[in-house]
Amino acid sequence: CGIVGYVGPGSSVDVLLGGLKRLEYRGYDSAGVAVIDDAGRLETRKRAGKLNVLAEDLAASALHDGHTGIGHTRWATHGGPTDENAHPHLGDDGKLALIHNGIIENFSELKQEVLDAGGVFTSETDTEVAALLVGAAFRECGDLTEALRRVVARLEGAFTLLVLHQDVPGVVVGARRNSPLVIGLGDGENFLGSDVAAFVEHTRYALEIGQDQIVTIRPDSVEVIDFAGVPVTPNAFEVAWDA
Ligand code: GLU
Repeated sequence: CGIVGYVGPGSSVDVLLGGLKRLEYRGYDSAGVAVIDDAGRLETRKRAGKLNVLAEDLAASALHDGHTGIGHTRWATHGGPTDENAHPHLGDDGKLALIHNGIIENFSELKQEVLDAGGVFTSETDTEVAALLVGAAFRECGDLTEALRRVVARLEGAFTLLVLHQDVPGVVVGARRNSPLVIGLGDGENFLGSDVAAFVEHTRYALEIGQDQIVTIRPDSVEVIDFAGVPVTPNAFEVAWDA
């Protein structure tokens, strides 16, 4: 399973598929991407099966590409390997997309809360509830980093989460607990990955994200906070091995 995030001048779909390809060694059963296109709309595509199933689908009918995107390979834990259960999952009426590696242990009580509030689920995953909750939090506070912070503070288990929202193009926000996430620093572009393989083709300059931290990347900035909202200075390292 793997995670890639991108903000910058390049084609999101190319960067995401290239990163996911390099993460294939970890194993997976489904793959998907979400991008904010140049008209400011969120577009997603996700398919059960190998990455080439997704790549062929995209070749047959291309997404309107853009410069902000997230990509995911899934190793199913809750819900079988189907197109519907593949990530990204959507929130805020399809304006927000979220991907997740790991397991949200307390998803069923959170899901009941969302159902009671009239929420509608389209998958059997433990992940979708996080997408709906971050969407609802964004509608309340209007800030994607703060919306994710409010939700991760309520989650139990292991997660790397990435989220984007069409109202804030040029921004990807990630969070991690008991699951890996690293930042790749480019020149006018930045990356997130579940490991450095996701972006080593583009940059060898990386920043560590500690346990229970949240990162917000834009093409020219990277900000890290902890789950309490306190700013953190991440440690830099250079990727040593050959790409
Ligand atoms: N638990 C999530 C699911 O089953 C994520 C699995 C993963 O790590 O890829 O959809």
